[in-house]
Amino acid sequence: MKFIFLGTSGWEQYPGLWCACANCKKALEQGGKNIRANACAWIEPDILIDLPPQIFFQSMRCKVDIRKARCLLVTHAHDDHFAPHWLWGRKLYEDEKNRDYSPRFSELPQLRVFGNATVYDKVRAIMDKDPGGYALEVIKVEPFRKYETEHFAFTGLPANHRDGENRGLNYIIGKNGKTLLYALDSGYFLPESFAEIKKHKFDLVVAEATYGYGAESETHCNFKKLEEIYNMFVDAELLKSGSRFCVSHISPHFTPIHEDIAPVMAEKGITIAYDGLKLNL
Ligand SMILES: [Zn+2]
Ligand SMILES: [Zn+2]
Ligand SMILES: [Zn+2]
Repeated sequence: MKFIFLGTSGWEQYPGLWCACANCKKALEQGGKNIRANACAWIEPDILIDLPPQIFFQSMRCKVDIRKARCLLVTHAHDDHFAPHWLWGRKLYEDEKNRDYSPRFSELPQLRVFGNATVYDKVRAIMDKDPGGYALEVIKVEPFRKYETEHFAFTGLPANHRDGENRGLNYIIGKNGKTLLYALDSGYFLPESFAEIKKHKFDLVVAEATYGYGAESETHCNFKKLEEIYNMFVDAELLKSGSRFCVSHISPHFTPIHEDIAPVMAEKGITIAYDGLKLNL
């Protein structure tokens, strides 16, 4: 399984668009891996996890052709993870009157979008307002149910993070005998979600440490909670040998730039992901 981090930042990106704190300034000066766009990921050849507003730039930068996507797993509908207007952008008008106004003129494989009820309603609103021509279907994920497609399987677990009424989803994804957990935005695991997680052994875990060395929060982890979670995985022997435990969704003001924090966390067994990191599992 090939897994690519297309983005690894929290909401405000890294450096924060409007911030000149020490971390934000240093990232801007040093560039490279210290620059992060909104968290999202690609599993070759056709699975996209989240659809942030800058997906165009992010997919280009990582040389990923998202037109090939057949599945979009959406964690939740916060606007750093889900920009539904890019699904309207799949529209191909078939009638002569509107055809020239299409944002798309070529064929696309059918895309199945999976998400919670907020995501479902947002996609339905687009499709119901102006039906047809999206090569798209949307499925509301039932937590803890295993979904199987021709080439991979996944289970959505309720996260300790809401986008309004509804909880976000962490995803356990199985493909070619490999298993990964994508847990952003997550917060500390709910007991029922961790009970499901404990039934698996992982080749890759992508956790979050949004607040770095900063505040404790119900809905996001900081490094203290991240290390507790890492230790839970180690103690319960949930990490296969050769597995990676990675961190994404990094907020700048509480987390040193990549080049400073990555070696510190590597000593603890934790990989700080960066935009463009490609893992061969
Ligand atoms: Zn987020
Ligand atoms: Zn969120
Ligand atoms: Zn800052």
